[in-house]
Amino acid sequence: VRLVRVDHEGTPRYGALVADGETVRLLSGDPFGEPRFTGEVTSLSASPALVPVTPTKVVAVGRNYARHAAEMGFEVGTNPSVFLKPLQTLLPHGGAVVLPPADLSDHVEHEAELAVVIGKQARRVLAADAFDVILGFTCADDVSARDLQRGDPQLTRGKGFDTFCPLGLAVETDVSADVEHVISCRVNGDERQRASTAEMLFPIPHLIEWISKWTTLEPGDVILTGSPAGTGPLSSGDQVEIEISGVGSLSHGVVAAPV
Ligand code: MG
Repeated sequence: VRLVRVDHEGTPRYGALVADGETVRLLSGDPFGEPRFTGEVTSLSASPALVPVTPTKVVAVGRNYARHAAEMGFEVGTNPSVFLKPLQTLLPHGGAVVLPPADLSDHVEHEAELAVVIGKQARRVLAADAFDVILGFTCADDVSARDLQRGDPQLTRGKGFDTFCPLGLAVETDVSADVEHVISCRVNGDERQRASTAEMLFPIPHLIEWISKWTTLEPGDVILTGSPAGTGPLSSGDQVEIEISGVGSLSHGVVAAPV
């Protein structure tokens, strides 16, 4: 199922996106209980996409692709490098990233990433059992103010501006450990990133085991699994399209900070 969350007549509702990429069959309740199709049908034009889940946290993994770590000049560690993004970073498919005012940052970059959505409360999960707690995969952009990321003693501000985590469009729930996905990112139609998830230094089951050792993952929580190489600057007016084979696609705009 390609699970979406939409604004249906002013109420957030979960639904399944059908093959035409536009029609949505609405569900009762949420995907973490026992959702049922209600028989109601809408469309993305009538019921705009929201962020597909409502996480309690977004855990982001850095340095998970060797060529991206190298282009950033980072060493690859023996453990994953993780940080948290505030929930205010979340932005639905079709939204626009708001650039910080120029006196705060003048260098913002895209990072196309596969996002894992947790389906069940998970604490101290073994890698072998990781897919039991996964609801599905979606697309994310770990938008990053590079100048602040490098200049601040912590990553929080550079990774944490409101709108810095476009997520969606849909959560593909038919996922498994042995499928390789190709992540690509285009900015204004020009391809900037392309890599296989098989290149991850710390694969998804390992990440879930490692993260759930120190924090309880809740239903709806999101893990960003790291960006491949090719990240580059964004400016006002840009259109970003992220596609992950077997998962779906996400697009968002970029606008300047309001004056
Ligand atoms: Mg990242």
